[in-house]
Amino acid sequence: MAKVNPFKSGLQQLNKAAELMELDPAVHERLQFPKREIHISIPVRMDDGSVKVFEGYRVQYDDSRGPYKGGIRFHPATDIHEVKALSFWMTFKCAVVGIPLGGGKGGIKVDPKKLSETELEKLARGFMRRLANDVGPEKDIPAPDVYTTPQIMAWMMDEYEQIHAKHAPGMITGKPLSIGGSEGRGYSTAQGGVYVTLELAKQLKLKKGATVAIQGYGNAGAYMAKILTKKGYKVIAVSDSRGGVVNEKGLDPVEIEKHKQETGSVSDFPGAKNITNEQILTTKCDILVPAALENVITKENAGKIKVRAIVELANGPTTPEADEKLFRKGIVVVPDILANAGGVTVSYFEQVQNSYNYYWTEKEVLQKLEPIMVSSFNSVWDTMDRYGCDMRTAAYIVAAKRIEEAMLARGIA
Ligand code: NAD
Repeated sequence: MAKVNPFKSGLQQLNKAAELMELDPAVHERLQFPKREIHISIPVRMDDGSVKVFEGYRVQYDDSRGPYKGGIRFHPATDIHEVKALSFWMTFKCAVVGIPLGGGKGGIKVDPKKLSETELEKLARGFMRRLANDVGPEKDIPAPDVYTTPQIMAWMMDEYEQIHAKHAPGMITGKPLSIGGSEGRGYSTAQGGVYVTLELAKQLKLKKGATVAIQGYGNAGAYMAKILTKKGYKVIAVSDSRGGVVNEKGLDPVEIEKHKQETGSVSDFPGAKNITNEQILTTKCDILVPAALENVITKENAGKIKVRAIVELANGPTTPEADEKLFRKGIVVVPDILANAGGVTVSYFEQVQNSYNYYWTEKEVLQKLEPIMVSSFNSVWDTMDRYGCDMRTAAYIVAAKRIEEAMLARGIA
């Protein structure tokens, strides 16, 4: 099976919307290309005395609506195509929820599980040393993504502040609370996904106790399991990079997390049956939540998916061919750029708090997040009805209209 280039998938998604909404051709042309792609190499003195060089990237896709914004991924399979796709999706994600930011993304090709704590710190600081003049609160604001943490954000911020000899907490988000992080940021991606799921449940008339399967048990997936369970949903299957487990009677997300901390994986959870990452996608339930990596729902397995809806917490989990199949089967796909936008929205709140050095309570953060997610869901849902298209295309229409306005206001070329 040929590897799907996620950036090409992103462009295909936009093209579909552009045609329906009659997007200005100059804006459409501009959106085919990132403004800047930065490739870096980061030498790290390893614990054994040897030097290893790691490849890194930062792609600044579009900043018509505000500074570039997007996470940094540490993963062995990360490459420029993936980072470009992720920066493209960030552009539309910020626009769909109407926050005044553009899209960017970064990555390092590395398996962080193979590095010691000191090696990881050197890598994080090295990444920031290379990019210290390209990022900043008014230019480009990174954040966590797959296998990056608040601690990694702290090292990066500290390196940036040392280079520029000033405090600048708003240069990065997802920081620990002690140095300018926001209440609620840790679980905000999942919380936003829950607000969206609750709206979806009203539209689909899902009953209390609706069943859920979640692929990926990291920041996005584990919090999704915990918050949905509190809201009365039944999480019946979860997985991580090493495999998954299913129990039709329901799983306890807190116990699963403890088991993962003790054993390194959700697999072999007592009382549940082990399944593969492929099987979790075809588990019969009401809602499937991909919360790991891109390109997992493909034309090969889309026909076997047996759910009412998919809520995409991961970025780019569904290929365009799979989207077509799911649409024909009547499965609603709440697209990544909407479903996981809670993370970037609270990152934006973090930056706002940093800029006036005055901090909100957790309650205030959630009171501001909920209406943004609910109204964004509903404007995408209404757009879907108006154009008779799928939800992803509708989300692109809402986002592209806002980007179009900003680009045309500035002057296009
Ligand atoms: P994370 O590093 O906290 O967790 C990733 C999880 O995915 C882990 O449980 C890991 O075991 C699992 N995983 C890795 N490879 C896998 C594979 N091949 N099959 C199944 N599971 C696998 O990362 P995260 O922050 O939870 O990010 C997950 C997804 O959510 C990514 O697509 C990311 O871009 C997206 N996302 C994250 C945020 C955020 O704020 N963290 C915001 C928006 C979107």
